[in-house]
Amino acid sequence: MSQEIPTVDVLIVGAGCAGLFLLDSLVRKGISALLIESKAFGLGQTTSSQGILHAGVKYSLGGLAGDDATEAAAAASLWSKMLSGDATDLRAVRKLADRCYLWRTAGLAGAAGMLGAKVALRTRPEPVTKDARPLWLKDVGGEVLTLAETVIDPRSLLSVLAQRHVGRIALGNVRSIVEENRVQRVEIESTRPAIIRARQIFLTAGAGNEALSKLAGNACEMQRRPLRQAMIRGPLEMVFGHCIDGAKTRVTITSDRISKDEVVWHIGGQVAEDGPRMTLENFRAHAIAELRSAIPKIDLQGCSFESYDVDRAEPRTADGRRPPRAFARTTGSVTTVWPIKLVLAPVIAAEITASTAASDYPSAHWPSDMPAPEFAQRPWEVATLSWNPIP
Ligand SMILES: Cc1cc2nc3c(=O)[nH]c(=O)nc-3n(C[C@H](O)[C@H](O)[C@H](O)COP(=O)(O)OP(=O)(O)OC[C@H]3O[C@@H](n4cnc5c(N)ncnc54)[C@H](O)[C@@H]3O)c2cc1C
Repeated sequence: MSQEIPTVDVLIVGAGCAGLFLLDSLVRKGISALLIESKAFGLGQTTSSQGILHAGVKYSLGGLAGDDATEAAAAASLWSKMLSGDATDLRAVRKLADRCYLWRTAGLAGAAGMLGAKVALRTRPEPVTKDARPLWLKDVGGEVLTLAETVIDPRSLLSVLAQRHVGRIALGNVRSIVEENRVQRVEIESTRPAIIRARQIFLTAGAGNEALSKLAGNACEMQRRPLRQAMIRGPLEMVFGHCIDGAKTRVTITSDRISKDEVVWHIGGQVAEDGPRMTLENFRAHAIAELRSAIPKIDLQGCSFESYDVDRAEPRTADGRRPPRAFARTTGSVTTVWPIKLVLAPVIAAEITASTAASDYPSAHWPSDMPAPEFAQRPWEVATLSWNPIP
């Protein structure tokens, strides 16, 4: 027998960064909101994110290329408030770096890219003198800059937000969404099945949004843009930065410490865009060659390589490219949300909250016998990986 749960203002479906920021923001406004997650916090994109709070506008440094400048400015100002404890208090989120390096590959395209970065980035990159460069950048031929881009651990972000809403997040699968008397009746499959009614539903399920929006009768067209991210683990330095070539980011490297002696590099950028078209073997050779060319002084002795595939899930665009801004579309009382970037998730959450009215429903909680989700593993923690030693 399904248990009936008292009606709420909002039901959110999907506990990645989009769903958790939205839950937090609505609850802070006094709106009665609950969240249902089908597998694990942030499974899919958020847990794979490199965690860079991109500072760029207009220029494609793996960042906010061609983006809406107002939205990017709102994102920068909101994050700086949150990380210093204002609005949603994110002081407990693990910060991995507060700057990223920018450097270029030799040749004309690299030089043009660097010039573009200097002209077009909203946060001006600062030149780094030869003496002040870290060891791994000592042998880079051209100019080296630093950019005030904070890098966070996305799982720690999810954990800080989720801990604030224990009891409002449950594990379960949405079986049906049906409108009844101007509220949505949602049937939830779980070890403790439930039926909940909500005035408004927000779909924040990443790649799961396509099927869910169909289920709710307001099919929202989605596109997937595949990536193959590279990972290198071993006795490495913590490295954060973008190697630029023309208008492209050849590689974007972020790092995390996985043990006393080992660091993992998480590598995206153009190399990850190229990856899905290659065999795994060719990709390994290509990614290592790209790294050696981006960082001539690289020492990969004692290191191993692995990669994983992940899709970016977004609303469909006419040319198949990334949409320029965060997306929320409402049909009736169901809204489909894709933040496009982690950095934009709190901005779209704040916009939605501003246009959502509170009602008289009391603050809501799932029944205590409903299970809660676990946290998804970071890509390098997945047990089935087979790390290959780099010759
Ligand atoms: C490799 C990679 C690197 C990135 N790096 C950056 C970066 O450095 N900076 C940046 O700003 N952005 C970055 N992004 C983009 C950013 O990660 C995403 O835009 C963002 O995480 C999307 O969050 P989301 O909550 O919409 O979706 P997701 O993180 O995919 O979360 C969706 C959630 O919904 C759940 N779900 C799915 N189906 C259902 C269902 N039927 N019912 C209930 N729950 C469901 C999933 O289990 C998951 O928990 C990166 C993306 C990728 C793939």
